[in-house]
Amino acid sequence: MKITTKLQMLMTVAAVVPVMVIIFMDQTVAAGAGVAALVGLLGPFVAAHWLVTKDLGDIRQLCKLVKEGKYRVHTALPNEASDNDEENEFVSVMRDMNWMAREIKLREGQLNEAIDDLDRAQQELLEQKQALELANKRLNEMAMTDPLTGLSNRRHFFDHLEQEICRANRIERPLSLFILDIDYFKQVNDTYGHQAGDGVLKAIAYILRNRLRRSDMVARIGGEEFAILLSDTDLLHTLELAELIRQNIKEYLFQTCDGKSINITCSIGAFSGDRPDYTKAELLYKYADKALYDAKNAGRDQVAYYDCAKLGQEHAELLEQLGQRGVTH
Ligand code: GH3
Ligand code: MG
Ligand code: MG
Repeated sequence: MKITTKLQMLMTVAAVVPVMVIIFMDQTVAAGAGVAALVGLLGPFVAAHWLVTKDLGDIRQLCKLVKEGKYRVHTALPNEASDNDEENEFVSVMRDMNWMAREIKLREGQLNEAIDDLDRAQQELLEQKQALELANKRLNEMAMTDPLTGLSNRRHFFDHLEQEICRANRIERPLSLFILDIDYFKQVNDTYGHQAGDGVLKAIAYILRNRLRRSDMVARIGGEEFAILLSDTDLLHTLELAELIRQNIKEYLFQTCDGKSINITCSIGAFSGDRPDYTKAELLYKYADKALYDAKNAGRDQVAYYDCAKLGQEHAELLEQLGQRGVTH
């Protein structure tokens, strides 16, 4: 029922009651005055409750539930009036609020689904990112690694050598390297087969890796040629280590594919730079390579080193060859 209709009804009652009071006043003024006072006092209260308070309370209750996220619909509604214009305005508001509560619930469900989808997509992205990073790491490792021995490859060795030269220059500490070349390796291949030769290369890689510090770098820079870079190590310690490795290799029993044990020797050329001015990796390598050449020429199975005293004229010549002018010494 519309509030205006209710008001009209109340006004009718309000009009009838005084008339009745007047009628009854003839008989008893007191009784009429009492009824009038009762109606005067209770009338506004009943009117307010009948018209507003109860329906407003229902609406407030519904609002409270919505506020708490409980989008429940108000069930105690009369059937929808056939003529909407005649329906109580509060009831219409309640119907609209019911509709809103249902809509909010629906949208909330859709929103939660969208959030779940987003979470899943984010998780997939994260997994893909991790897989990419792993693949990238593997690619980088592959680009730096010798596949047969698992040691660093030639490119990585020279990159690392450049960095170590910069570091040695900065902290003014010596930097040493030696090159190890297997003696008569071709004969190993020719006699026992290429596979046996590969086995020897792997075993030597293993010996080297086990002999050296984690901070030292071991690389396979050629077919049967290894380079070892020792940071913060002087010539004496470099030669001691090189000699130890030479002996280890000489004493090691390498196994061929058909179970035979063979002995191998190697030659080593060392160079130690104790002055912070050898600015090119290629130069340091050349000094060590010259020493290796000397070791081979002197009969193999030995360690030779490039004497720093030779530096000077030879150094200048090498610089000339390499076109590395501006390197001071
Ligand atoms: P030297 O004492 O003068 O160093 O003699 P060498 O026979 O060791 O040297 P040479 O340069 O004549 O031969 C090197 C051989 O190394 C030839 C080549 O077949 C072999 N080689 C190179 N790379 C590999 C490899 O990956 N596996 C095997 N099994 N052999 C290799
Ligand atoms: Mg060789
Ligand atoms: Mg060689």
